[in-house]
Amino acid sequence: MARQVCLVTGGAGFIGSHLCLRLFDEGRHVICLDNFFTGRMENFGERYRELVLSGRFEFVRHDVIEPIVLEVDEIYHLACPASPVHYQHNPVKTIKTNVIGTYHMLGLAKRVRARFLLASTSEVYGDPQVHPQPETYWGHVNPNGIRSCYDEGKRVAETLTCDYHRQHGLPVRIARIFNTYGPRMSADDGRVVSNFICQALRGEPLTVYGDGSQTRSFCYVSDLIDGLLRLMACDFTGPVNLGNDGEVSMIELVRAIERILGRTLRVEHRRLPQDDPGRRRPDLTRARQLLGYEPRVPLEEGLRHTIAYFAAELGLPAPITAG
Ligand code: NAD
Ligand code: UDP
Repeated sequence: MARQVCLVTGGAGFIGSHLCLRLFDEGRHVICLDNFFTGRMENFGERYRELVLSGRFEFVRHDVIEPIVLEVDEIYHLACPASPVHYQHNPVKTIKTNVIGTYHMLGLAKRVRARFLLASTSEVYGDPQVHPQPETYWGHVNPNGIRSCYDEGKRVAETLTCDYHRQHGLPVRIARIFNTYGPRMSADDGRVVSNFICQALRGEPLTVYGDGSQTRSFCYVSDLIDGLLRLMACDFTGPVNLGNDGEVSMIELVRAIERILGRTLRVEHRRLPQDDPGRRRPDLTRARQLLGYEPRVPLEEGLRHTIAYFAAELGLPAPITAG
């Protein structure tokens, strides 16, 4: 039987690079497509040579807002900047990436009869009024605020994906990804885990937005990849939440990093950004029942790996971590 070819759009980014390597290690032929807006070749690090020489790993520099034809069996569509700093940098481009880019990748899937998985987001729930958030919740989203290019862009991407399924019978999957962290996040992407860790390592105060009582549920990247692979392999076409259902406030996140580093960290409060969701936690019932999904990496263990990664990235000595 011919080897399965997997296309990963946004494959050079944080989650994409982990996904590409996992698919490659499972023996698949991988096409990593990226425009390198936030993605980096360095994310493949010391494995770059092995990948290229294997004959079953290809890099394609391409922007998904343009059409492309490739012979593939599965499409993991991740292309889209994910951090608020990056997606608000050029909001019109973010919408084009989510809407036109998803349209092109669905068109490709239809043409070559590929299975399609959309990387959607917990942001489709906006600032939720239902807690924790099940997939049946329609959300509470500002349609014209500074986060809307991403939130509404992903909501349209979900709609398009469902309509390709209803109208053309395309096999589709929708992953609603909750805050994911781990090695290969970029140090400057402005997300809270990378910000806090880099600030702590540099001896700078940790910038807590607002009073730090807002909550998120942080998922270590290996758990998310496991969920994405399980989702692609199942037959369910509706949205599925993927993440970790442990919920912490930003102040509790500071405390977790303090426990790991074994020292007290200075905190500097900054203005809370507009439309910043107050609470977020996935209801994982559907993922557990349908996929047998279970996040396994506890927050402090994942943070330890991430701290070690950023210390190396920043060229700082590995911190002595407590415990
Ligand atoms: P990332 O910014 O590291 O990766 C995004 C990748 O997409 C980058 O490599 C970037 O260069 C590429 N890209 C952006 N626009 C493109 C375009 N027009 N054409 C081709 N490539 C393009 O972010 P990430 O955290 O790895 O997120 C990956 C996906 O997962 C995104 O779709 C994001 O919305 C989704 N997601 C991530 C999280 C999270 O916490 N990390 C949460 C929810 C959803
Ligand atoms: N945040 C913070 N300090 C920072 C960066 C972010 O307190 O330096 C807060 C932000 O206001 C939000 C939470 O951390 O409430 C998560 O932010 P992030 O940008 O990581 O993800 P998102 O808001 O998209 O979930």
